Amino acid sequence: MLALLVEARRVSGLPAAPADAGFGAHRHEGGRLSRACPLACLQLSTRVRNALRNDRNCTAKTVGDLLDLLWSRDLHEVRLMGARGVREVHAELLAAGFSVPRLG
Ligand SMILES: [Zn+2]
Repeated sequence: MLALLVEARRVSGLPAAPADAGFGAHRHEGGRLSRACPLACLQLSTRVRNALRNDRNCTAKTVGDLLDLLWSRDLHEVRLMGARGVREVHAELLAAGFSVPRLG
């Protein structure tokens, strides 16, 4: 099975490591979502993705970056994120098995 995956990757010409750490295509290291994963690994709405991408002050590229933003409450300051966006990120990170702060 692994050989098949390696072969498929070789044929499709995909690089072994993600070239774009933000929203590009990627396979989890070890097959599991981790802090090192790009934001693309989370099931986020287009609205939230655009808010993260378009705010010049927001440099979050990985799941870990997003977790840190949530904990520091800086996520609330991201332009166009809004309370709904924060709740969505919170729910997604919780569902992914990460420890998240209480929303209040
Ligand atoms: Zn991943």
